[in-house]
Order: sequence, then structure tokens, then C-alpha cells
Amino acid sequence: MVAVMWFRRDLRIEDNVALKHALEESDELFLLFHVNPDQFLGEESINQAAFFKSVEILREELDEKGATLHILYGDLKDCFTRLKKELPNWSDVYINRDEKGYGLERDKVAGGLFKELGIKAHGYHDHHIHSAQEIKTNSGTYYKVFTPYFNKWKELQKPHVVDVKFETEKIVGQPVFIEDEDQFAQLLDRQIQVGNAQLGTREAHKLLDDFVENHLRDYKEARDYPLKDATSHLSKHLRAGEISIRTVYDRVNRAENSLGKHTFIQELAWRDFYNAIYATHPDQKEVSINASFRQVEWDNNEQNFKKWQEGQTGFPTVDAAMRQLKETGWMHNRLRMLTASFLTKDLLIDWRWGEKYFQEMLNDYDAASNIGGWQWASSTGADGVPYFRVFNPTTQSEKFDKDGSFIKKYVPELKAIDNKKIHEPSKLTAEEQETFGVVIGEDYPGPIVSHKRSRELAIQAFENSKKKTENMKAADPK
Ligand code: FAD
Repeated sequence: MVAVMWFRRDLRIEDNVALKHALEESDELFLLFHVNPDQFLGEESINQAAFFKSVEILREELDEKGATLHILYGDLKDCFTRLKKELPNWSDVYINRDEKGYGLERDKVAGGLFKELGIKAHGYHDHHIHSAQEIKTNSGTYYKVFTPYFNKWKELQKPHVVDVKFETEKIVGQPVFIEDEDQFAQLLDRQIQVGNAQLGTREAHKLLDDFVENHLRDYKEARDYPLKDATSHLSKHLRAGEISIRTVYDRVNRAENSLGKHTFIQELAWRDFYNAIYATHPDQKEVSINASFRQVEWDNNEQNFKKWQEGQTGFPTVDAAMRQLKETGWMHNRLRMLTASFLTKDLLIDWRWGEKYFQEMLNDYDAASNIGGWQWASSTGADGVPYFRVFNPTTQSEKFDKDGSFIKKYVPELKAIDNKKIHEPSKLTAEEQETFGVVIGEDYPGPIVSHKRSRELAIQAFENSKKKTENMKAADPK
């Protein structure tokens, strides 16, 4: 039987459910990646550049084994119709399914086309520990709150690592669509550089080993301090599937018991939870899940949005975090919470603006986790932070970057400032500014808003939205 293994967000050869089945069940196997130009984010996107780099690394790894990853470039229907003409005996396709978002829509279109072409599709669950459908309440509904979800999640048997026996002899070797390969090569050349982000399965294993050996035990406390850098950094590998979530879970689960281990496993469950939330709220990229907060009147000041993006808000930790994102394509979790809270509460800018900016900039962009994170921080989501809990950027900075080292790393204009004063440089006297060699308002901006006042305005805006929603419901109870 001639089969196609269609790689998508599972860019690895090991512990890959669809690939295992494809290898075991076919006589000849065509390995494929499809590039859809309609999905492009723009050549300045770190997210996109990192993803294509991951594809390229998979190609190189297959090449080392003497196997070829074929590229199809263009409209999906057109590409697969051409492929069928080229491989008339092609009868089966193997995929790891997407449960939500763009991937789900694409799979619906592809499923219809495969039927028309007489191709049998084999879909598997691979990208999460538990699929969106697997975890339901006892009455059969989906969870909206994490804690009861996690209680159920913990009870379930975890899937085993899958052993893939790679047989190069089965793989169709000759490049078929030379023009598509060329277009992809040109596309790769035009992408921006993704800094020093190391990608690929080998790198993912190095990180996993290092994390389990050196950081797992203390993860619960250390993960909150940006400069300690004590988290796994596996997100950019997990989102492209360069390492399997089963492999990560298995390695961590075999480690000695500790609070760190428990907390880390809980984070993996958050990843499943957000996947399930997206699957059950397919419009959540555009629509706030919490109906009470769909009427918030955002201020949406474009200049302030730009200052937030550029790390020029006058709040040093927010600025350091936004510059970290721009320079490295990654941001520490605590800072994602802080910068998202700052944008949506202090600046009262629509969470969707922030979500889309992160989509362009993150090398670990994962729609479910990003939308989930943004709706959590802006209090608009399922199980979000209460609307009246507004992160204070100065006290967060004093707590999690006590000596200001993280700020100094990314906001060098503040690096001479005394450790205690660095969290609020606008309070420096003229004399202190001279001593530390920084003029506030010239070398570094003063705060673009008053946190105290903004907090009050945000709470008001959320309460107004709540009232408006109640009135709308009262006027039209349907
Ligand atoms: P670790 O702390 O080592 O965690 C291990 C893994 O668990 C992560 O790689 C990730 O897969 C998962 N994980 C950890 N925390 C979360 C969480 N809160 N939600 C879901 N999964 C989690 N994560 C993404 O992978 N992609 C995103 O686009 C993304 N956007 C976010 C946006 C906002 C506003 C917020 C608040 C969080 C976002 N997160 C996102 C979650 C989290 O910040 C990152 O997963 C984490 O910082 C990645 O670093 P790490 O791999 O070192 O994490």
C-alpha cells in the first residue's frame, strides 16, 4: 500500500503516533509537509520564522537517515490533487489530528478532498496528554474551571511513549515537486533570523535532561523569578512537536517525587486544559468567553500600544519583558501575566491586540495557550484572574526581580541605578538622576499612566460591562 505521512505540528521522527502507524501499515511511504501561503503571518514574524526553521531541521534529520521530506507549496486542494496525479497508487494518509482552530478547519477541508480522491484518512491523537474530548464532568459536560479539571486529569491513565521503527527503504526518495521546493527555499531565505533560538528534537532532549537533572526539584519556587531562568524552555519544541508531550511527561514522571515535579506536571495539564477550552469555544480568538465582559469599553490608545510593544512604558519590568520578547522571541511566564495585565488593565487596551502581537513575536506561539493566557490575564476568559485583581507592576518587580538584575539585562539605560530605586526610576531626584547617569523623560520615559488611577478606571470599565450585560439580559431574556 502507498501511503502519505503528513507532518504538521508533530515535527519529529520519534514517539509519533501517526508515523508509527504509517510505517507499520504501508509498503511505500511518502513523507510530506504542506506550506499554505494563506496562513502566512509576514516575514517579520518570529513565530513563523521559528516554525519554518523547525520544518527545515526535520528535513535535515530525515536527510541524515537517507529519507526525504517532500514539500508541497500552495493551495491545499490543488497540492493534494497534484500529488494524487503524481502518485496514482496513493491510497492512505496518516495524520495526527488537530482539535481546534485553523488546524481543525484545514482538516475538515482535507477530509472532504481525501474522500473525493478515494484516499483513506487515518487520524490519531498525539499533541496533548489527554485530548479535548477525554476529560468531562460526571454529567458529561466540559470543565470550565481548572482545579476540578485537574483533579479528573490526574486520575486518568497516561499514554505511553510510542516506539517508532524507522525504515528508510520504505520512504519515497526522489523530489517530486521541484518548484514547490524552490518556493519553500526562497521563503526560508526571506524569514528574519530567530536570534539564537536553538530548535530541533536533539536540542529539546538536551533541555529536558538539563531541566530534570538541575531544575525540576526547585521548580515550584524558582519558576517565578525571571532571571533565575529555572523553567524548562520546552514550549518552542512542544508547540511544533519537536519533542512529544508523552516523552516529556514520562521523563518527568520517572524523576524523584518533589513539589517541583508536581507543579511542573500541573503546568502540562494547563496546556491540555487550554486545548480543551479552545475546542469547546471555537470562537475564543475573537470572542471573550466570559459574557459579562464582552461590553468592556477599551481605550485602545494606539500610541500607548506602540510604547508597550517597544518597551517604553516607564515601568521597568514591563519594558524589560517586552524587550526580552522582541530580542529573543520568548518571555518568562510571570512576565507574560504581568505585561498582559498591564496592557489590558493599566492601558485598557483590548486583549485581542495583545494576543495578536504575541502571535507574531513568540517562537513558542500556541493558539490555545496564548488565547487562554490572554483571556486569563484580562479576566475575560474561562477561569480568569478576578477583574479587580490588577497586577501592580512596581511591587511585582520588587518581589520577583529584587535586585533589578533582570531589568538591567534588558533596559541597559537603567543599569547604574541603585538596586532599591530601579523599580520606580521616575521617583529619582534630579541629583540621583545625575549620579546614576540617566535623565527620566530623556534617556528613559516617565510612567505613561498612573497605576493607581488606571486600576480604578479598569475596575470601573469591567463593572460597567457587567451592568450593561445584566441590563441587556433583562431587556431581552432570550
Ligand atoms: P515551563 O514552566 O517549563 O512549563 C512547561 C510546559 O508546560 C511549557 O513548555 C508549556 O507547554 C506548558 N505550560 C506552562 N505554563 C503554561 C500555561 N500557563 N498555559 C499553558 N501551558 C503552559 N505558552 C505557550 O506554549 N505558547 C503561547 O503562545 C503562550 N502564550 C501565553 C500568553 C500569556 C499572556 C500567558 C500568561 C501565558 C502564555 N503561555 C504560552 C503559557 C506560558 O507562559 C508558557 O508556556 C511558558 O512560559 C513557556 O516556557 P517554558 O517552556 O520554560 O515553561
